[in-house]
Amino acid sequence: MTAPAISNDTISLIGNTPLVRLKGPSEAAGCDIFGKCEFANPGASVKDRAALWIVRDAEERGLLKPGGTIVEGTAGNTGIGIALVANALGYKSVIVMPETQSREKMDTLRALRAELVLVPAAPFSNPGHFVHTSRRIAEETEGAVWANQFDNIANRRAHIETTAPEIWEQMEHRIDGFTCAAGTGGTIAGVGMGLKAFDENVTIALTDPHGAALYNYYANGELKAEGSSVAEGIGQGRITANLDGAPIDTQFRISDEEGLFWVERMLADEGLCLGLSSGINVAGAVALGKQLGPNARVVTILCDTGFRYLSSLYNAEWLKAKGLPVFPWLEQ
Ligand code: PMP
Repeated sequence: MTAPAISNDTISLIGNTPLVRLKGPSEAAGCDIFGKCEFANPGASVKDRAALWIVRDAEERGLLKPGGTIVEGTAGNTGIGIALVANALGYKSVIVMPETQSREKMDTLRALRAELVLVPAAPFSNPGHFVHTSRRIAEETEGAVWANQFDNIANRRAHIETTAPEIWEQMEHRIDGFTCAAGTGGTIAGVGMGLKAFDENVTIALTDPHGAALYNYYANGELKAEGSSVAEGIGQGRITANLDGAPIDTQFRISDEEGLFWVERMLADEGLCLGLSSGINVAGAVALGKQLGPNARVVTILCDTGFRYLSSLYNAEWLKAKGLPVFPWLEQ
């Protein structure tokens, strides 16, 4: 038996997540589909990696001093990562979040000692948008840095330097395709760039939810959104600095219903309780696997734990109110 070695600090528990072959999706695609278990990070999401890289980068640039404050605007998971990293390294955290995000994320951030600032959901062009609000708070707070996950490429560097090499090793250097959705774009761009450096023939596919503009951008150069999605943390309307230069070969558009289908199957057939972005990613991986053919080996990201969404995705009333199908076992 090989067990992981003792870590000297909690920061080094970030990353080195397991990779699992997903039975149902592999069967549906007729090839091998694997999920990178990012819910196994200490903050239970893929964003711990970006949070750590952003904080380390600010330290290296001399912007963040002992006892300083990290300010970020986030759909939640980056805030959780930043709060954890801040506590572990002796910093304070201020997290600005749209009030539409899940109750569990807000409670988690408060529990993690972050100062939480909730703002109404607003378009990016509105100065009250959570990203602009977080920048202003950082500017007005002494000793504070703005994490700026969307346009700070320390975010995608985390994936170039850790997620991609981990996948490459875990796949024993044999991988045909990788796909995931984009929030900041750090994961798709960083893993894409990292994997292409190992093997330029790996197909990198963007899996876009409805309501995002990137599918059209990569398909025909037009940043145009259609429809909407209840998925948290994904769906981008612009080319962030992290997305700039991302090696996207092809793209899929996935509905919430398709994503929920896989969230349900992953729970019922594989015992994995995941968030909706993971379900959308799995749907994208199945589509990519079908396109690449029977011997393909495709990897996607299982972004965060479903325990973060007990009052939404896993709640019959919430699903009904959104006009979404309800998992049969929730009706008891
Ligand atoms: N899924 C969830 C649940 C997230 O919180 C995020 C981060 N916003 C993503 C996926 C997308 O990751 P990235 O920001 O690296 O594009």
